[in-house]
Amino acid sequence: MADPASMDWPQLEATVSSCQACRLCESRRQTVFGVGHRQAHWMVVGEAPGEQEDLAGEPFVGKSGRLLDNMLRALGLTREPAPAAQQVYIANTVKCRPPGNRNPQPDELARCEPFLIRQVALVQPKIILAMGRFAVQSLLRSDEPIGRLRGRVHDYQGVPLIVTYHPAYLLRNLPEKARAWDDLCLAVETVKACTAG
Ligand code: URA
Repeated sequence: MADPASMDWPQLEATVSSCQACRLCESRRQTVFGVGHRQAHWMVVGEAPGEQEDLAGEPFVGKSGRLLDNMLRALGLTREPAPAAQQVYIANTVKCRPPGNRNPQPDELARCEPFLIRQVALVQPKIILAMGRFAVQSLLRSDEPIGRLRGRVHDYQGVPLIVTYHPAYLLRNLPEKARAWDDLCLAVETVKACTAG
């Protein structure tokens, strides 16, 4: 496989769709590449496609996707066609559904990461919102719980990264929504600080 680091969007998308770098290719219906504006100011990174995403070929289309869309809407952001400043680009740390929605394994995350790194390099977002323990720990090379990593600005490939809870977790733990809102506000402040002056 050619190095994803030098690919353009069509090459990257084609490489992902035919990828056989790990065992997840055996059980996927299709790969789930990403959705949204390819020069979006905001990038959302989730964990892995679930059943609905594997069927639709688009990240976050199930129940947790609806919550994510509502959270983004509250910030004036959307995955639907819109100017770059109002649209997000959404991707996952792994592009194929782990069977039975099990957690992605470290070697699967490692093999898929060059694709995400290239997506980040091509989008050049002003902020990354990392959602859920597996995405966060894998992007930040950390085994700290989310609760310890929230509330400050991290860095991923030179882009400010904010840690927050996964929407599926928020659906099960409604009181945590207030904390997730704080995370979104920190992301907004970080974008403002980066673009000021
Ligand atoms: N959860 C994720 O992390 N990503 C998806 O695409 C769907 C559910």
